[in-house]
Amino acid sequence: MLELALYPEKFQSKEFLCNALKLLKQDVGSHSPSINLIQQELGCHVKLDGCFLSNPYATDLFLSYFENEILKENLLGNLFSYYPSQNRTLAKLVSKNLQIEPEKIFIGNGAIEIIQAIIHRFCGESILVTLPTFSPYYEYAEKKMKVVFFMLKKENNFEFDIPEYVKLVFDSQVDSIVLVTPNNPTGNYLTKTQVEYILQACKHLKCIVLDESFIHFAYEDEELNLVSNQSLLDKYPNLVIVKSLSKDFGLAGIRAGYALMHPQRVDDLLADGYLWNSNQFVEYFLTLLSCDKFMREYENVRKQFIHEVIAFHRQLQTIHRVKVYPTMSNFALIELLHNSAEQVVLELLMEYGIYLRNCNDKLGLDGAFIRVAARKQLENQLMINALRKTVTDNI
Ligand SMILES: *Cc1c(COP(=O)(O)O)cnc(C)c1O
Repeated sequence: MLELALYPEKFQSKEFLCNALKLLKQDVGSHSPSINLIQQELGCHVKLDGCFLSNPYATDLFLSYFENEILKENLLGNLFSYYPSQNRTLAKLVSKNLQIEPEKIFIGNGAIEIIQAIIHRFCGESILVTLPTFSPYYEYAEKKMKVVFFMLKKENNFEFDIPEYVKLVFDSQVDSIVLVTPNNPTGNYLTKTQVEYILQACKHLKCIVLDESFIHFAYEDEELNLVSNQSLLDKYPNLVIVKSLSKDFGLAGIRAGYALMHPQRVDDLLADGYLWNSNQFVEYFLTLLSCDKFMREYENVRKQFIHEVIAFHRQLQTIHRVKVYPTMSNFALIELLHNSAEQVVLELLMEYGIYLRNCNDKLGLDGAFIRVAARKQLENQLMINALRKTVTDNI
């Protein structure tokens, strides 16, 4: 059964909370306010964060290793007091995991640091960005270069129209493009075949940024095997693959991400800095990535989570008054057909302590959209029940 969230004295009314949320949102721009910020500033208890896009079982797996290998062994002090290894040394750890030459790997303080660096360095004067998408791709570009948008259409379920896309690449004469697959916040996916088709058509470009931050949640066969486009790097030297480790490993707090690119580009970036841009926690995590036992266990929790995500999306589809868009990721974009997104998000937070992502600030989304991230099974059930009740009671 659903428990009601406790109401601290501080929330006087829905209006109070609604305004306070708006002010917080203004401060954080195009991202959602963090749970810490919401709890501190609004004095409310978020019991379930359906906003954060991660595999919670992967977080648990990491924590169990951390507890046994670091805490119990009394090694935590070392992680705080020593420098992490340099970028190239950390690249070797990722290289073992991916079976790819370390010279092609650049380690970032989260993928966000890499996105900023490659957009400003390798993408020339104009870039084609698909909307709606992860906002830093246009926000970081806007100030220095021309940004051309390709719109995913709601009428097409936000699916990618490849011929139309390639036509726009040529018509707009952009220097670079960004592909995010699966895309955030729509969840739409480009298969490996589709990605290669686009790369082939875009060989003339300075840079193709392919963001695979959610690819561990995607699959192309029944065994849910890992998909990756990294084998295309040799054939397409303009390709840069960006990979956040925050979402699939559930470790956004430590700031881990990498990118795969032509070795010359890695050299260029490192000549500019980034020597110790990581930290010891990331280094410990990257040593786990190169450990077979950890990776086998990770594969299990990855597949387990995908099964639960699929079940969650099926359940979402049973809610009337809500349209669920097709997704290949651990979240779904839903459209409220009879409610306002603001009201539903507020109601869920106040009544149930459930926090979902209102997508009203996302460029290219017109309507009442909310992004709902899958968590653990019981929490998914709570979200379904609360959402069903809220959209029915508040028409
Ligand atoms: C979250 C996200 C990132 C950035 O992740 P980091 O936490 O900085 O590693 C990059 N790309 C997409 C599509 C994302 O959703």
